[in-house]
Amino acid sequence: MLLLEERKQIVFYGNQLIKRCLTTGSGGNISIYNRKEDLIALTPSSMNYSDLTPEDILVIDPGGNIVEGTNSISTEINMHLLVYRNRLDVCGIVHTHSLYATAMSCMGWDIEPVHYMLAMAGPVVKCSKYAIYGSEELGRRALDALGNRGACLLGNHGLLAAAATLEHAFSTAEHLEYVAKLTCVTKNLGNPNILTEQQIQDVMDKFGTCSYK
Ligand code: 13P
Ligand code: ZN
Repeated sequence: MLLLEERKQIVFYGNQLIKRCLTTGSGGNISIYNRKEDLIALTPSSMNYSDLTPEDILVIDPGGNIVEGTNSISTEINMHLLVYRNRLDVCGIVHTHSLYATAMSCMGWDIEPVHYMLAMAGPVVKCSKYAIYGSEELGRRALDALGNRGACLLGNHGLLAAAATLEHAFSTAEHLEYVAKLTCVTKNLGNPNILTEQQIQDVMDKFGTCSYK
């Protein structure tokens, strides 16, 4: 079976998405790009994470052709491929519908640095305009909002996290859900203090030497 280790990792983190309340049912999708083999492992469409086995994960080439697997491929295949084509540093992607990040995406708000953990993704996490799920337009808008950062919000939809490994992308998605929740809570209390770009840059530099996951 091609990309067996990557498939196992995807099943593991798919289950973690549910356990850590980052999505419900089959919402969201996960992929790993093995750049050495030039193959991508991606979740199937509309299958509950708790039911997934490594055999259920599809293997595709960077052109989107199915190389191994019989399930229907995730509807967000274009979004994953577009990010991999344009961000050569990215080998793992997690897309979630986590509650607070999605709430912010419904407001059309960027996630600002109300907490230093935003530095997992960048000085700010931009929110894209809405586009229907599974569309090429959503992929383009996501890529645009992602820029060179570690995540973006998808307008009225959810969150996309991208990193060098799936483990790191998952961790980013989890920490950003925390920062999004904190944003909603603090805005309810009043006007939170927002960290400056320099303060976040200092944290990013520190993460570089003392990686926090
Ligand atoms: P899939 O089940 O097709 O991956 O779609 C879930 C999703 O989150 C669409 O944006
Ligand atoms: Zn989605």
